[in-house]
Amino acid sequence: MKKKISKPKLTERKRRSMLKPKLYLRRILGFFSKIFSPGYSSCMRCGITWKFTKEHSTSYNEHSGCFPLCEHCWQELGTPENRLIYYQQLWAEWSLYAPMPEEKWDAIEKAVYEGR
Ligand SMILES: [Zn+2]
Repeated sequence: MKKKISKPKLTERKRRSMLKPKLYLRRILGFFSKIFSPGYSSCMRCGITWKFTKEHSTSYNEHSGCFPLCEHCWQELGTPENRLIYYQQLWAEWSLYAPMPEEKWDAIEKAVYEGR
């Protein structure tokens, strides 16, 4: 029996190629948003500042949350595996300023994998 050509892969490839131009446009918006809102933090993927886009807040314990991604990018990335790198990037930035407790990272990672 002949193996079926993996159709989902083609769909996935098509989906990705359709996303890229959109992300490119959002990065241009991100560039300009920084000019018009200096001092604001921004999404680590598209670069749009929190003045112009809504952050996706990931609460990792009762009192704390973090938001490396905007709601749009968070949705678009689709899976915890795709999102995790941005949380790692944020964690690396935090770690530049102060030593961070490992339990905190564990809590963040857990929250990301739970889709929060
Ligand atoms: Zn974004």
